[in-house]
Amino acid sequence: MAKDFYEVLGVPRTAGEAEIKKAYRTLALKYHPDKNPGDKNAEQKFKELAEAYDVLSDPEKRRRYDQFGAEGVHGMGGPRFHNVEDIFSAFGDIFGGGGSIFEDFFGMGGRTSRRAAGGRDGADLRIEIGITFEEAARGVVKEIRSLKREAACGVCKGTGAHQGRVETCQTCRGRGRVQAMQGFFSMTTACPHCQGEGVRVARPCERCGGRATTTERVDCEFQIPPGIKDGMKIVKQGFGNAGVRGGSDGDLFAVIRLKRHAVFERYEDDVICEVPITFSQAALGAKIGVPTLDGRAEVSVPAGTQSGEVLRLRGQGFPHLHGRGRGDQLLKVVLETPHSLSGEQRKLFQELAQLEQKNRNGMPRLKAFLGKFKECFGYEP
Ligand SMILES: [Zn+2]
Ligand SMILES: [Zn+2]
Repeated sequence: MAKDFYEVLGVPRTAGEAEIKKAYRTLALKYHPDKNPGDKNAEQKFKELAEAYDVLSDPEKRRRYDQFGAEGVHGMGGPRFHNVEDIFSAFGDIFGGGGSIFEDFFGMGGRTSRRAAGGRDGADLRIEIGITFEEAARGVVKEIRSLKREAACGVCKGTGAHQGRVETCQTCRGRGRVQAMQGFFSMTTACPHCQGEGVRVARPCERCGGRATTTERVDCEFQIPPGIKDGMKIVKQGFGNAGVRGGSDGDLFAVIRLKRHAVFERYEDDVICEVPITFSQAALGAKIGVPTLDGRAEVSVPAGTQSGEVLRLRGQGFPHLHGRGRGDQLLKVVLETPHSLSGEQRKLFQELAQLEQKNRNGMPRLKAFLGKFKECFGYEP
């Protein structure tokens, strides 16, 4: 029996949108597959949560669910979660603080320890990394050379002060915050004197002019996992601009861009490819060579294949990013009519045409059409 979606998320039936979202986020992070590797129960729970959230977060689905129960929301075209990957693509946004699940996923969920007071945070940096289909399928290490970032100034040790001599701000006594009375209330605000940094620089460093950072060029490496998709982000924590005077370092975000491929397209983890074949190959059947992510493969086109039919090469697509196995490769077979004929070909086609007049067995669509024509007009065309 299907579980009650409200019970799954642990919210009352009167819960508002925000409450539902919060409950889902909390529980989904708890049962996240990466926090519970190999735990089938956690994975099952993770899927149940997604299903419940899928329905309760959508006002129309929720209304139908309240009215008719689980039957009411079947076949409403909502996402069905066959695997964990589907869930990430549907609700990925909800996990990260504005970023995707991916940042959380690699254990790099943004800055974790912000300082209490003082200092200035370094800015995050963002780059794009273009990779090929093959690289996305196998995973790849990409080296980024000469990336420009702000590093703590070596002369003043990131203080911005001459010989590193920073003075404690007298106004806030280094706390960075001051209390002010507003009527009966005591309010805490950032110290206006030191902009909340808690320190003052009387004489700036000669090297950085008080900025506390200098521009440097660094090399870094990104491990790109197999199955990665276009637009996903990988984060290197602390590789952004340096924080100064106790501020935290920024992060470096790499946005993955999948380059166009000459013959392949991607849909989720499936690889799609169009394959032109001839009349005779379609009629007689043929073995044809096709490209796959793993190189050349040979495929049997069965006799009687129709134009537009799709042949499936199981497990020849992209690896699933979260979990085992791979998508498929789909070969869309397209019959190509000859654009011109040699004399000999023309002769053979003419013979074939005569045979076709006599024998229409094996042409059910044509026969059906002729039958209907006759129904309309009383004779064949
Ligand atoms: Zn300096
Ligand atoms: Zn101050």
